[in-house]
Amino acid sequence: MVKPRIIYEAKPGMPLYVDRKLYGRLASAKEGRKLSERITVPRRSGKAWPVRAGQICRIIVSEGPQVGDLNMWNRHNPRERFWASRTRQLHSAHLKTYDRFWSSLPYLRPMATITDESVQYGIDADGAGCHDLLGTRCDPYVHKLLNGEDFDLCCHSNLVRAVIPYKLTEYDVHDVLNVFQVTGLTQDGRYFVKPSPTKKGDYFEFLAEMDLLCAISACPHGDLSVQMWGPSAADPEKTCHPLGIEIYDVPAELLRGWKPSAVVDYRGEHGLAYPERPRAGRRKA
Ligand SMILES: [Zn+2]
Repeated sequence: MVKPRIIYEAKPGMPLYVDRKLYGRLASAKEGRKLSERITVPRRSGKAWPVRAGQICRIIVSEGPQVGDLNMWNRHNPRERFWASRTRQLHSAHLKTYDRFWSSLPYLRPMATITDESVQYGIDADGAGCHDLLGTRCDPYVHKLLNGEDFDLCCHSNLVRAVIPYKLTEYDVHDVLNVFQVTGLTQDGRYFVKPSPTKKGDYFEFLAEMDLLCAISACPHGDLSVQMWGPSAADPEKTCHPLGIEIYDVPAELLRGWKPSAVVDYRGEHGLAYPERPRAGRRKA
């Protein structure tokens, strides 16, 4: 059998790989940070908040095990948003420290870089990992499809309600990173989950590489220990908890050598060749 081959590999010096010295410094020097804002995301709801380039944002398991569905946009241009599938190809199906959130085309730049996360799950015997990029958010349409019922507290709807104050809509909500969620694929390729291994105080944090709008839903599946769809469906309501968000200002000396990310400088016009036109101001004699 032919051996598997990692396809998305970068040449040395490309921005796929971070300067681990700089980002390691950001993770270890936590006492130098200044708390700028603290937000509570109530259970089974969503919240949105801006993060400025160079700030660190931390998502916290504030009371008990809980997964969160995270979206990200360029604060000044919501057409540029987190691209989950490309990020999966560039890094992994489960994100970890030093992985980055990459933006959609025609931008493709790091929106954020994970500086630290306390779960450190690795890959288990079933091939499962934490902070899931294999799946996406739960939504009321799939809920109707699988259970035949109306349910308005799905992550998709929580995110929709959260972004309305920022003049975004349902069409702006996109594929998420499932923070604190353990997932994998069975032998026959089916998507599976395991209960979130998190405990109170666990966190996942990232440095904003540009001005961001972030939004998260505290998933109505709670810690994912209760099946919510299909013949054995039950209500996981008792396993649902809030999430905490903290935004920190980082001292300038810790950010030495860092600058906000820039879009990929591709100017190839997709190979389009334009017909030559007479230059303005020139007249035929
Ligand atoms: Zn959900």
